[in-house]
Amino acid sequence: TGSTFPHLEGKSANRFFDVNLVRKDFPIFQEKVNGKPLIWFDNAATTQKPQSVIDRVSYFYQHENSNIHRAAHELAARATDAYEAAREKCRSFLNARSVNEVIFVRGATEAINLVAKTWGDENLHAGDEIILSNLEHHANIVPWQQLAGKKGFKIRVIPVDDDGQILLSEYAKLLNHRTRLVSFTQVSNALGTVTPAMQIVQMAHSVGAKVLVDGAQSVSHLRTDVQALNADWFVFSGHKVFGPTGIGVLYGKEDLLNDTQTWQGGGNMIEDVTFEHTRFHKAPNRFEAGTGNIADAVGLGAAIDYVNKIGIDAIHQYEHNLLQYATGLLKNIPGLRQIGTAPDKASVLSFVFEGYKTEEVGAALNNEGIAVRSGHHCAQPILRRFGVETTVRPSLAFYNTTSEIDVLIETLYRLRKARK
Ligand code: PLP
Repeated sequence: TGSTFPHLEGKSANRFFDVNLVRKDFPIFQEKVNGKPLIWFDNAATTQKPQSVIDRVSYFYQHENSNIHRAAHELAARATDAYEAAREKCRSFLNARSVNEVIFVRGATEAINLVAKTWGDENLHAGDEIILSNLEHHANIVPWQQLAGKKGFKIRVIPVDDDGQILLSEYAKLLNHRTRLVSFTQVSNALGTVTPAMQIVQMAHSVGAKVLVDGAQSVSHLRTDVQALNADWFVFSGHKVFGPTGIGVLYGKEDLLNDTQTWQGGGNMIEDVTFEHTRFHKAPNRFEAGTGNIADAVGLGAAIDYVNKIGIDAIHQYEHNLLQYATGLLKNIPGLRQIGTAPDKASVLSFVFEGYKTEEVGAALNNEGIAVRSGHHCAQPILRRFGVETTVRPSLAFYNTTSEIDVLIETLYRLRKARK
């Protein structure tokens, strides 16, 4: 099934890795939807899992399952080793200095809430300001708003230009001696914009503010290096990087984590407890109260192994070509308005289609076996910036192909014909 748009034929599929071989690693691509092969263009919502991840979680339950308390018995040692090996894989994936900087959480949402409810609760007061960007997912808005309601600090918002890129000049004007925190996304889930993260971090630090970077949409597309980025916290979700749901990572600089008040209390996070007083562990255990999601952490480790095997730079290059290919074709469809046209983008295509509600487009695509998200993508402020409430959002991953994009494009042309 060759591409009907031949300029990338052969090239994009084969230059970086063999996409047809890669697809065989994902059992879900055997599925049919409405009698058609599944085309998964909902990667910004969640990614599909390679067999190696599915097998790793299953192996854990078959051969290693125990709570993690190393000294107790053989299976406890196996489970602890597997869990801590996964932490090391996450450390290496992020290029963090130490495994002590890698805290397992439920996902990006929990990670941001953790920072808001620990460091934020301790350090943000009336008279202070924090800065978010207009691009943020609700997960990086609501926790701060909830806290601001209690503490009385002010939230300021960096605007974006008409392409959906952050306006650094406007950001510079928002920064001042009252700024305590800048929290922003590295890649927009609604538009795909790749923000100038390094510069945003540097500018925040120049006024003494802390910085949180939301990597939920970036880690599966771009190489991450938290030391080079130099953010104080960095968060991501396992399920968006080919790992299981219910597991994610909060990275934080080690000294900062150890200086921050604790969050949930309970087992695992304590060194010593009396009825009068508790001494807490240092990070990461300090923030991992109770029994964590051990099996899925191990599964996340396997997902990182898989990404490393393909190579994140190869993924980045391949997806870049795929995105260019799709963007060029969408541009030619009459009545289709792409939203998010920044030169630097990853994975996401967002559009509205004249004469159709976004959910109608979603349903028509579903008839062809194509999964896209039609909705507000948990990022209402940025869609409203462009005068819309919802968009159709195909989002790509390295297992997608130009042929799949052709099916999308052909379906949209059919819809165009049916309704002028
Ligand atoms: N931040 C961004 C940019 C996202 O795209 C998402 C998920 O869509 C989140 C945060 C929240 O991730 P999760 O729902 O996995 O906690």
